[in-house]
Amino acid sequence: RKRLILILGDQLDEDASALTDFDPAHDTVWMAEVLEESTHIPSSKQRTTVFLSAMRHFAEHLQARGWPLMYSQLDDANNTGTLAGELSKAIAQLKPQRLVMTAPGDWRVLQSLRAVAQQHDLPLEIKDDTHFFSTVRDFAAHAKDRKQLRLEYFYRELRQKNGILMEGKKPIGGQWNFDADNRGSFGKQGPGLLPAPTRVAPDTITQDVMRLVNDKLAHHPGSITQFGWPVTRAQALVALDEFITHRLPSFGLYQDAMWEGEVWLYHSHLSCALNLKLLNPREVLAAAEAAFHKGHAPLEAVEGFVRQILGWREYVRGIYWTQMPDYAEGNAQQAHEALPEFYWTGDTDMACLRDAITQTLQHGYAHHIQRLMVTGLYALLLGVEPKQVHQWYLGVYVDAVEWVELPNTLGMSQFADGGLMASKPYVASGKYIDRMSNHCKGCRFNPAESTGDTACPFTTLYWDYLGRHADMLAKNPRMLMQLKNLNRLTPEQREAIATQAQTHRAQQKAPQA
Ligand code: FAD
Repeated sequence: RKRLILILGDQLDEDASALTDFDPAHDTVWMAEVLEESTHIPSSKQRTTVFLSAMRHFAEHLQARGWPLMYSQLDDANNTGTLAGELSKAIAQLKPQRLVMTAPGDWRVLQSLRAVAQQHDLPLEIKDDTHFFSTVRDFAAHAKDRKQLRLEYFYRELRQKNGILMEGKKPIGGQWNFDADNRGSFGKQGPGLLPAPTRVAPDTITQDVMRLVNDKLAHHPGSITQFGWPVTRAQALVALDEFITHRLPSFGLYQDAMWEGEVWLYHSHLSCALNLKLLNPREVLAAAEAAFHKGHAPLEAVEGFVRQILGWREYVRGIYWTQMPDYAEGNAQQAHEALPEFYWTGDTDMACLRDAITQTLQHGYAHHIQRLMVTGLYALLLGVEPKQVHQWYLGVYVDAVEWVELPNTLGMSQFADGGLMASKPYVASGKYIDRMSNHCKGCRFNPAESTGDTACPFTTLYWDYLGRHADMLAKNPRMLMQLKNLNRLTPEQREAIATQAQTHRAQQKAPQA
């Protein structure tokens, strides 16, 4: 029995299900760097570097174990540029009897690998991914017969099933949700001295990849002059330990807060390591729970962290695999504007957007509220076509794999699935950003104004959005308060807002000077 075991760039764990019964006498691992994975959307230099460097480190690890490996490098002279092309070549060379893989994270990749197996008349065995607490079947069973999907119920089920932060059948602390305690800002005085993030100096493998990326993908978004992501499991474990020790205790309180020029704050920065499978979410949550039991971190911080990983991360994966491929086409609000050019440069005078986009292009990272309530909110209010927003998010972040990026972007952030994922559109005016950050202090726009020269575009576009979608929103009880406020505006005010919003939209389309 000669098997070819396919390992993709986001499956870099020797304990992956595809490798459980690996037999070096008969089996070969196949890995391939291909240009298509960086060009089907414009993948940023940070993102491509993370993937290729982590793949090369993992390949080195497998070779050190003496496991047979077929590995295509991006700059191999005969690289076909696609996963399908490289796999076909490997099959022709090795003539395996069977292909085995762990379920991939991208619908497009699954289709293309399945097609290759079919062309070669080979069985392709797809194993469950054990880097999740739930299976897609669990999610489908949960979703069946429910009129509405909500994170909260799925999350509670998973807490119970996995005994995480539980006291028998009850949640520790007597409540499931500490969201209300997790919305602090840094106030006027700012965050003060912040713990340093874990940054890893590029070794020779990473430096080689950086040269390759700068050479082959010179025109791709962002820069890698500052590259510091963990690219091995050992480095990721250090990052986990430093998060638990230095940042988890304040993670909850400041989960939604932003501060000009402060990229890392109290977040974990573990999404990339988790999504590449350098870390298993079980060990991550075990470490967080242990910190609570030792009295090192308060319950609201630990519950907030658990909710993100056991709740949202599992939930969005279920949505993705039960809804694809139609999900990617969603455009419930008929939004057709182009993504403004400044998303690729950060060159805008809206301070919050400039800050979030600049750090994104520099590091391939922004935290959740920056993604949801700055870059995402602006695109939603402007009315950008969801597919363009999706391509941007999938391209720029180091943690972007479609199963997690697409539902977050299309569903949670752009409401393009019409409310399947989120119970209401996440919309707010510039005042929200003012409350959660200090961006507005140095900005030429005023979040309290919706018309006039210094009106904050977020505020103008917010009222304009409510006005444009009032009929759809009126069906949603959770939007009633916001609509009530809209109705307090005089017809003249509404007219002036609509005109200003139109002018702003037109300005975004004009070619940049
Ligand atoms: P922390 O704030 O430290 O949170 C801890 C962990 O919880 C994260 O590492 C992540 O694994 C998980 N998590 C938190 N929120 C979510 C969520 N909404 N969905 C799934 N997992 C979550 N996350 C990605 O991993 N990849 C993406 O491509 C991605 N795209 C996003 C696009 C948009 C428009 C939005 C609004 C969110 C997106 N997220 C994505 C979710 C979230 O913003 C990131 O997981 C988080 O910012 C990563 O930083 P961190 O590791 O410091 O997270």
